[in-house]
Amino acid sequence: PYTGPGAEEIMRKRREFLSPSMFCFYKKPVNVVHGKMQYLFDDNGRRYLDAFGGIATVNCGHCHPDVVRAIVDQTKSLQHSTILYLNHAIADFAEALASKLPGDLKVVFFTNSGTEANELAMMMARLYTGCHDIISLRNAYHGNAAGTMAATAQCNWKFNVVQSGVHHALNPDPYRGLFGADGEKYAHDIQDLIHFGTSGHVAAFISEAIQGVGGIVELAPGYLPAVYNSIREAGGLCIADEVQSGFARVGSHFWGFEAHGVIPDIVTMAKVSRGAMHWFNSFREKLTSTFLEMQGIGNGIPLGAVVTTPEVAEVLTRRCYFNTFGGNPVCTAAGHAVLKVIEKENLQENAHIVGSYLKKRLSDLKSKHEIIGDVRGRGLMLGVELVTDRQLKTPAKVEILQVMDQMKEMGVLVGKGGFYGNVFRITPPLCFTKEDADFLVDVMDYAMTKL
Ligand code: PMP
Repeated sequence: PYTGPGAEEIMRKRREFLSPSMFCFYKKPVNVVHGKMQYLFDDNGRRYLDAFGGIATVNCGHCHPDVVRAIVDQTKSLQHSTILYLNHAIADFAEALASKLPGDLKVVFFTNSGTEANELAMMMARLYTGCHDIISLRNAYHGNAAGTMAATAQCNWKFNVVQSGVHHALNPDPYRGLFGADGEKYAHDIQDLIHFGTSGHVAAFISEAIQGVGGIVELAPGYLPAVYNSIREAGGLCIADEVQSGFARVGSHFWGFEAHGVIPDIVTMAKVSRGAMHWFNSFREKLTSTFLEMQGIGNGIPLGAVVTTPEVAEVLTRRCYFNTFGGNPVCTAAGHAVLKVIEKENLQENAHIVGSYLKKRLSDLKSKHEIIGDVRGRGLMLGVELVTDRQLKTPAKVEILQVMDQMKEMGVLVGKGGFYGNVFRITPPLCFTKEDADFLVDVMDYAMTKL
């Protein structure tokens, strides 16, 4: 049994010693002390079905034994920076990761987060093309450092950054967008931005395959192939941000971009939980197997990567470039173990089968509850948008909080996002089962009935 501090004490310390910007879901936040596969446990030993672990890309489940073992074994033998000496962990994982990518995408740079990966990708595109202009999509989330915050396009996440050279294109959002699901019409906006907002040459286009933070928005069909053509004609590179949609989550494919039939020039990815890097750095020297077993680090371990072609990668030889912790042996051993688990346990196929089943059940729920405006997504990256009026698509901002709180009380944790905060984000660990899907939908159904 857990004997550590309770929720109130943690809240008090958070208020006093942590950033006031930190936020929690739920009126009464859950004090999670343990994770096991698709479950989280609170300080009273109460079990919750975690349908949102995917934001930390806990793809193979909390504390998966193979991943924990890889981390513990590597921690016992060596944890150090990889910039000075050789070590096999980084090379082995880079090779394995490159084998999962199509075409000439085979040079890997490791980082500690998705933000860092996107910063590096954007910098490389600018160096490679000699241009500064980057186009990203409205409603996108790409990170919160200077460059990536400029690429991020929701005022909720933007501080007073200088948006140097970033243009935001119409979002090809089939539900709320101007042109419905007509991808090619939205793609004209990119042409216009290139013609009227730049010198005619651009550095890059960056986008997610399915917007995560933006509320599980699938890009309209036909959009990415048309845009990739326009960008390449303007001399730019295409960057796929796979931080949320990568690593088998979309089920039909290993990477989200593959479902659109395109091959990017740069792919970014990460398996990071917010704040994880902070605890990891401060606790690195104290890591013990007991400590590790207490954490939901499956692949919530801080690790990001940029994968590109040898030709683009060459730009970083113009100066010295390094990342002290990026690709350290413990993180890369964990990443490699995660890849192996995804394969060994057929998690991509599971994401496809269980995800399709769950989407069907959620869509059925739409005929029962007027409040559900849209059900969307692919594999185990699903969204349910709540509206108080289906015609006007009025965001059900208050109702979603009530349903979410009720679901938590019944033992199911889901996420929430979208610009108006009215979209349920369902991105569970990929070991989610059909029984879990049924439980989630039944609980959501009950909570909506009680509204
Ligand atoms: N890209 C996408 C698509 C994301 O969703 C996120 C964060 N969830 C990031 C980049 C930034 O990742 P990080 O928080 O690890 O910096």
